[in-house]
Amino acid sequence: MRLIDSHCHLDVAAFALDRSHVCQAAHKAGIVAFIVPAICTKDWHHLQQLGQQNPACYPAYGIHPWFIADHSAQDLTQLKSQAQQAVAVGECGLDFYQNSEKNQQLEFFQAQLAIAADWGKPVIVHARHAVDAVIAQLKKYPVTGVIHSFAGSVQQANQLIKLGFYLGVGGAITYPRANKLRTMVKQLPLEALLLETDAPWQPVYGQSQRNEPINLLAVLNTLAELRQQSAHDIAAASYQHTCSLFGIQP
Ligand SMILES: [Zn+2]
Repeated sequence: MRLIDSHCHLDVAAFALDRSHVCQAAHKAGIVAFIVPAICTKDWHHLQQLGQQNPACYPAYGIHPWFIADHSAQDLTQLKSQAQQAVAVGECGLDFYQNSEKNQQLEFFQAQLAIAADWGKPVIVHARHAVDAVIAQLKKYPVTGVIHSFAGSVQQANQLIKLGFYLGVGGAITYPRANKLRTMVKQLPLEALLLETDAPWQPVYGQSQRNEPINLLAVLNTLAELRQQSAHDIAAASYQHTCSLFGIQP
């Protein structure tokens, strides 16, 4: 069984001391590749180095909606050249949870969608309390991609699937009380789902420490249980779709 963690932040400081150990442990468990989206411009250089040192790590470049205030139009110009050699543009998107800088978030999201469209790259999208707003933007650009850690409704999921998007499923489904999410992932077509951990964040149920890509197995097994489908079939489908979305052959 081969798996890809379609969304993890292996470049961040939480992995500074044991990054290669974390990757090796995941690799032994069958997780053979990692899509690593950027958060801030200042991380891009380090992320690029990570991709060069560890060919199992595939960098994506983008500006996360939480950090828009630290960025300017110049960063978008830089992204335009940086993104050409990446597997995707991201992590970008909209986060209206705290409702700050709505207009600025929209501007940066639109600019990043335009860059992805220009280079023919997929986008890795963060959509929190903003799924409808994200859908409205995605309709305007000829792009495809993934909504990471998707937490919308089945209706919204179907709209996104129609637009050619995948939906990222992560550790949140391992929480027994996440009824809405667990019911939703049962109803979606397997062809639309990608597996992710969002490590070092979004720990799986019962885990108190830093999240790691090896916990992709817990996500996979929970999904198999919920859908009453074999973990093997889910793994094979998710692997294949992650490869085809990001154009990789690990
Ligand atoms: Zn993320």
